[in-house]
Amino acid sequence: MTLDPKAAREARARRLAYAKEHLRCPYCKRKLERWDLPPHPFSTWSAEYVYICTSEECSYYKEGVKRIAEQGTPGGAYRFVYDPSRDWCGPMAARVPPRSRD
Ligand SMILES: [Zn+2]
Repeated sequence: MTLDPKAAREARARRLAYAKEHLRCPYCKRKLERWDLPPHPFSTWSAEYVYICTSEECSYYKEGVKRIAEQGTPGGAYRFVYDPSRDWCGPMAARVPPRSRD
């Protein structure tokens, strides 16, 4: 099933509103953890900190692991991240911890 662009935008706006209001992951409802970003001149992140879903049971995370593995890069993942400084939410590249790899 593919969402049309308008529906996709609305779904994204709902996820952002949810993350903002509850500081919880809209996919797994787990509390987001504040993550302080190290200052880095080449970082694409302008924020000092973001909120990130650290759950390995998160459907978003699991879907990312599956998709990246299908693309031929096992060990990669995406986590849901909410950036209050930009009023933005989306994927952040992550690594699968070695202990949870098959
Ligand atoms: Zn989650």
